[in-house]
Amino acid sequence: MTGTGVLCTKCVKREASITVGGRKLCELCANNEVTRRAYRVLLDSGAIDLKHVTVLSSPQFSGAERVLSRLFARMGRRHSRELEVVELAAKGGSVDTLIHSFLTAKGDLVLLPFTSDFLTAYLIYSISKGRGPIYVKLYSPYFHLRGTLFVSPMIRTSILELKGMGRVEIRTGEEEFDELHRWVLDQLAENPELLFTAPSSAKLFEGAETCQTCGATLVGGICPMCAL
Ligand SMILES: [Zn+2]
Ligand SMILES: [Zn+2]
Repeated sequence: MTGTGVLCTKCVKREASITVGGRKLCELCANNEVTRRAYRVLLDSGAIDLKHVTVLSSPQFSGAERVLSRLFARMGRRHSRELEVVELAAKGGSVDTLIHSFLTAKGDLVLLPFTSDFLTAYLIYSISKGRGPIYVKLYSPYFHLRGTLFVSPMIRTSILELKGMGRVEIRTGEEEFDELHRWVLDQLAENPELLFTAPSSAKLFEGAETCQTCGATLVGGICPMCAL
């Protein structure tokens, strides 16, 4: 709690402590809002009908598996699905190899830990390399690969908006990326709209042929990630 003394703009009862979508909310209303966003993504993806759900846990996205499990628990038990948390042996080295480890994970339905601040940083990072994101697919809330449905329930939510659900820390180990990611987080206080530009900008890079194994954009017909 920050103890600002400002009331939540939604319930106008409890003290506001988290800014979500530019609105100052109390923890309860903030958690309801991020759950509502996650539920919408799961509903649109058709994931609601799948019984077995896999959440990937990795040290590079520390705390994300707890938040995803919590979001999942808040969706209600009426669909009676089972959730399994799988420790991912994520390859380090670069942000692209890290994403590759996530997208080659197995399961019927895999929940990904990618948040809007991470995706924004990944887009800026990729463009700074003189190319588009190798994993353009990540800018869609859900997609299929090898018969697995991948869903990103936090695609429209930043780790700052999620803080009522738990602390998430992202450290890919690629210093250049992590520095850029910290810069994005710093910018959010002043420019929350920054997060909305990444999904539409990423569309510019869509349409290229992608790898059937990991979803990366092919270069000269070859997957630059699976070939590593
Ligand atoms: Zn409230
Ligand atoms: Zn590949």
